[in-house]
Amino acid sequence: MPNRRNLYFFYRRDEELQEKLLPLFDLARKYNFTVVKDFRDANVIVSIGGDGTFLQAVRKTGFREDCLYAGISITEHLSMYCDFYINDTSKMVEAMANEQIKVRKYPTIEVTVDGESNFLCLNEFSIRSSIIRTFAMDIYIDELYFETFRGDGLIVATPTGSTAYNKSVNGSVVDPLLPCMQVSEIASMNNNSYRTLGSSFILSGDRTLTLMVVQDGNEHPTMAMDNEALSIKHVRKIEVKLSNRVIKTVKLKDNSFWEKVKRTFL
Ligand code: NAP
Ligand code: MN
Repeated sequence: MPNRRNLYFFYRRDEELQEKLLPLFDLARKYNFTVVKDFRDANVIVSIGGDGTFLQAVRKTGFREDCLYAGISITEHLSMYCDFYINDTSKMVEAMANEQIKVRKYPTIEVTVDGESNFLCLNEFSIRSSIIRTFAMDIYIDELYFETFRGDGLIVATPTGSTAYNKSVNGSVVDPLLPCMQVSEIASMNNNSYRTLGSSFILSGDRTLTLMVVQDGNEHPTMAMDNEALSIKHVRKIEVKLSNRVIKTVKLKDNSFWEKVKRTFL
């Protein structure tokens, strides 16, 4: 990593973990990296924790395209965004010493709520009824009115997010080399009044998905971008599309997406 020498570590500040990290900081310095205190000075951002921590690391540092992100697992198994073990530094050394580091690029999605608030998601955007009653939305693909959904909610997942919430509702696992987004239902009602496709569908990166929340007293759904709740209470129109921002991670010999899927699920 010849031009990326400023490292920022993102982790939960607890004493036990802090102690475990000291050898890691020393290792970074040994390879001529500078450990910076402010993420704005970084060009490599290292998350220490699980996938949830990685999602937070990306969000709290602003989805930076000029940075390389890396995830270090603090458990004995690796997760989808974590390619390094805290107790095995050999792969980290390999990556740090490598002059020609290769990168993997993960697509993100961009969500606009009521034409003003913009957010990026690395896993998914999810919207669900926050009360016992169902809620309804008219769904458009580009200009086309597609269906009216009534039920618990919807998930719009990125390819790397396809193995998370999306997978729990029987969505497909999607290769991150495909720049696209997947729409999956959470408990849709299907009867003579309401009809939805019933299966997940995958949209090309050139399309826009628009959700018009039916204003029938249930227009206060719970919305989330990855693992963070949106504080917006009242919502009318949500637009989701692929962002031109990507998240770059270190490409290693054994960390292709399908290797991760295999080691996580099979
Ligand atoms: P959490 O509730 O602690 O974690 C949910 C689990 O999903 C954790 O085991 C987490 O891994 C894992 N995970 C996160 N991103 C993943 C990915 N891209 N592929 C496979 N597994 C993934 O919350 P969290 O750790 O902050 O993670 C947030 C994510 O949880 C959300 O983005 C959403 O996808 C997912 N979620 C799932 C459900 C569901 O399946 N019913 C419901 C709500 C949210 P780690 O243990 O390594 O953190
Ligand atoms: Mn977690």
